[in-house]
Parts: sequence; structure tokens; C-alpha cells
Amino acid sequence: MQPIVTNTMRSIDKKLQDKKIRPTAMRLLVYRFLNRKNVAVSLSDIEQAFDRSDRTTLYRTLKTFEDKGIVHPIDDGSGVVKYAMCEEHCKCEVGQDLHMHFYCSACRKTVCLTDHKIPKINLPEGFTANNVNLVIKGTCDTCTSIP
Ligand SMILES: [Zn+2]
Ligand SMILES: [Zn+2]
Ligand SMILES: [Zn+2]
Repeated sequence: MQPIVTNTMRSIDKKLQDKKIRPTAMRLLVYRFLNRKNVAVSLSDIEQAFDRSDRTTLYRTLKTFEDKGIVHPIDDGSGVVKYAMCEEHCKCEVGQDLHMHFYCSACRKTVCLTDHKIPKINLPEGFTANNVNLVIKGTCDTCTSIP
């Protein structure tokens, strides 16, 4: 059994406190899990990694992270919402931080394309946007290199 208070945990603890989130053990673990992934994960992925936790607690943890700008939800068209870590100081705003995503139809992974921000679109008069999703679908580098 690894000791829970490591340097990583201490720095995650601080990050959560900076965002005004009480650092519970569950939140620390979920944060670490998300932070280690370079692909977006679904609630089921997290559930599988934390086999002794209940789904509701995990879901609430994700919602808290979403509300506080730690993760952003992604609708990649697969029918399941996935979550990925936000960049530092992200506000998840269109024309600011919201970026495109890439969905690989071969391995079904979704990655953030943080270098490609979604531009602000001038909508017709009377239209208000409250969410934008831009997903590029295709084959990722790993799947392309398989002969
Ligand atoms: Zn964000
Ligand atoms: Zn792939
Ligand atoms: Zn993203």
C-alpha cells in the first residue's frame, strides 16, 4: 500500500484548495487519475478504475470539478459524455478557452486539441449559444501507424 500523502498529492491538494474545493480523499484520487490520462474519460472509465466507489459519488466529484473549471465535458458524438482536464486558468468560454476535440473512430479515444480554439461565431440576431462542440473525427496517430 502506497502512502497517500506524496508530493503529487500535496500539490493536487493545493490546486483543489485554490479552486475552493475541499480536498477529500476521493477528489484527490479522481484528480490524479484524470491528470495522468492524456485522453478524455467517461464516468464508466473512472468507475472501472475505482472499483470500490459508488457511481453517484464519482459523478458528483466530476460535477464539482466541472463547476469549478477543473474539467470540461466533451460530447464527441459517441453518446457518452467524456471529461478532460482544463488548462490552467481555463474559463471554458467560447472565443477564449474552448477548443476542438479529435475523436478516433478506430480506438474510440477522444483527445483535446488545445492549440485549436473554437472561434466566436456571430450568430443571427436573436440566437444565443450556450454550448459549442467541435469534434474532428478520423484516425489517431496510434491507429494510423498499425500496418
Ligand atoms: Zn475549461
Ligand atoms: Zn485511434
Ligand atoms: Zn478538451
